[in-house]
Amino acid sequence: MQPLEFIKFTPRTNCGECGYAACLAFAAAVTKGGENPRKCPYVDPSQFGDEFSSGKHGKDGLEGVGKLLDDKDVELVAYLKRKTSQIDFATAAEAIGCTWSGPEKDCLLLQYFGRDVEISHDGILIDGKDVEDPRDQILLYNYVHFAGGDKPTQEWIGMESLPNSISKIRTLRVYCEERIAEFFAGKTDLLKKIAPQLGAEALKNPEQSCSAAFFIPALPRLPLFVLFWDEEKEDGFPAKVKVLFDQKVLDFLDIESLVFVCERMAERWVELGK
Ligand code: SF4
Repeated sequence: MQPLEFIKFTPRTNCGECGYAACLAFAAAVTKGGENPRKCPYVDPSQFGDEFSSGKHGKDGLEGVGKLLDDKDVELVAYLKRKTSQIDFATAAEAIGCTWSGPEKDCLLLQYFGRDVEISHDGILIDGKDVEDPRDQILLYNYVHFAGGDKPTQEWIGMESLPNSISKIRTLRVYCEERIAEFFAGKTDLLKKIAPQLGAEALKNPEQSCSAAFFIPALPRLPLFVLFWDEEKEDGFPAKVKVLFDQKVLDFLDIESLVFVCERMAERWVELGK
């Protein structure tokens, strides 16, 4: 059983009586770390049969759970979810470029790297499924909480031009730019071919002297501009990637989440290219 399946047996109140900061952390400890499910006084053991009765469930052990889910992230997700329940989606939708579903479902609909996202007062679904990684939830909730600002201008700047970005420049380079460059070195055509699956549009005649350039709406009001220079083996130049941001980007997301958006883009591009 996965944590997101087990959590449905809890009341999701994050009361902490089980010794965990949030129900999701407890669910991960039970399903992945062998924790006793009866530590939550609100779950009804008859609902999940004898899956956890042997005491041998959870092959990773509790130490392994820390790797799976960072308590800090889980707490933050719970906090952001509570805050989101106070937002009037009908009013918020336009400023962040989302569609409001209408009063019956009362949720926000948007695209995240070409995937369908539904943000409701109960949680987030991506392509109709619960979100496994709390970091995706954090950035999507943050995007809603930022409540938008001036529309993007398509004046592009590098991470180094954003305030307080010094510590993030290396993260962006290592986990996004170098990852894409290394994987797609010598494969410009493949990079272009799979770009539409990320919601990306390849520019026909990029002004820069690069091999390919892409306009990628990571989120409705959060476009990225990605430049790719393929390797030149004879001259000894490796492939290179540069990610540019709209100069209004920080009206829509904090810098931590922004770097995570870029990491996600790299992971997805590489995944699709395999
Ligand atoms: S005891 Fe733990 S799992 Fe149960 S509701 Fe409270 S926080 Fe959630």
